[in-house]
Amino acid sequence: MSDAIRLAPALRGELRHDEPMAKHVSWRAGGRARTFFRPADLEDLQAFLAARPAGEPVLFVGLGSNLLVRDGGFAGCVVFTHHALTGIGSAPLPGPRLVVVAGAGVPAPHLARYVARHAGAGAEWLAGVPGTVGGALAMNAGCYGGETWNHVVSVRTIDRTGVLRTRTPQDYEIGYRHVVARDGAEEWFVGGTFAFDAGDEAGAMARMKALLVKRVATQPLSLPNAGSVFRNPPGDHAARLIEACGLKGFAVGGAQVSRRHANFIVNAGGASAADIEAVIDHVHATVRARAGVELVREVRIVGAVEGRAP
Ligand SMILES: Cc1cc2nc3c(=O)[nH]c(=O)nc-3n(C[C@H](O)[C@H](O)[C@H](O)COP(=O)(O)OP(=O)(O)OC[C@H]3O[C@@H](n4cnc5c(N)ncnc54)[C@H](O)[C@@H]3O)c2cc1C
Repeated sequence: MSDAIRLAPALRGELRHDEPMAKHVSWRAGGRARTFFRPADLEDLQAFLAARPAGEPVLFVGLGSNLLVRDGGFAGCVVFTHHALTGIGSAPLPGPRLVVVAGAGVPAPHLARYVARHAGAGAEWLAGVPGTVGGALAMNAGCYGGETWNHVVSVRTIDRTGVLRTRTPQDYEIGYRHVVARDGAEEWFVGGTFAFDAGDEAGAMARMKALLVKRVATQPLSLPNAGSVFRNPPGDHAARLIEACGLKGFAVGGAQVSRRHANFIVNAGGASAADIEAVIDHVHATVRARAGVELVREVRIVGAVEGRAP
């Protein structure tokens, strides 16, 4: 056979069409993805991306805990990293710090426990973030004083032709729930190398447990939600402002401002993405009108409004 004829490698991952994204986002609402792919491994992901048509919208999704896909769906391909790209291990580095290499699909709580078990400290807060390493990198997830990018040594990215690169924090503009590649490159995270202080397992496990207890006491975790909907404005809390505007309990269809935590919107039963977005818009407009504060949304919204072309 001629060397010139090279067949594209057969995909080994899970490829589906017209996939309901409500199954894959924590709000349990919203539309479908035209194409859905869960790669078998990194090589499989490279082959998949290299074969996609140029210009097709691509969306990486971890655990969907900060994401809403509008009811009209996402007219592109969704790459699902959860239960894929799940490798995790330690790497040697001079000095006492613990260095961990984790794939984008590793759940953040898994990384937190891994660090604790390997005598590291400073990852305890990740135990309460119900997303993946990739999502935490994309969002610069954080809480209780911890922030994802404070621990990044380097990240591994992939572009739409399947090319992998190693990048460092200097390549990004990083802020509160904000991460943008300085060169504007369209790339996604396939993994990261993180450094943590030295600690002890029992201490880290105890701190993790205490933070989780605090979460259960303050957050409406029994109903589908996406965590904090808005970023905290400088020097204030979005939840305080929303509550002060009398919005706790405000509802459209099945979507409601939580009575327990005003910066959470819960799916109290049968909410559509349009219901959730209508509550978000109402909260935003009311806080602007009554408190004069322009809240900035933290959750990501993608896709088309039902009945309208994307
Ligand atoms: C109950 C609850 C509590 C929460 N508490 C916190 C908290 O304390 N602190 C906090 O920061 N967040 C919190 N969140 C929000 C959410 O968990 C985080 O933003 C998390 O990092 C999102 O990860 P994910 O894998 O679910 O991302 P997804 O929701 O799947 O995606 C979020 C965004 O990241 C992009 N993305 C995902 N994976 C990749 C990738 N591999 N490469 C590039 N882009 C990617 C997506 O395209 C999307 O734009 C909470 C959410 C819930 C439901």
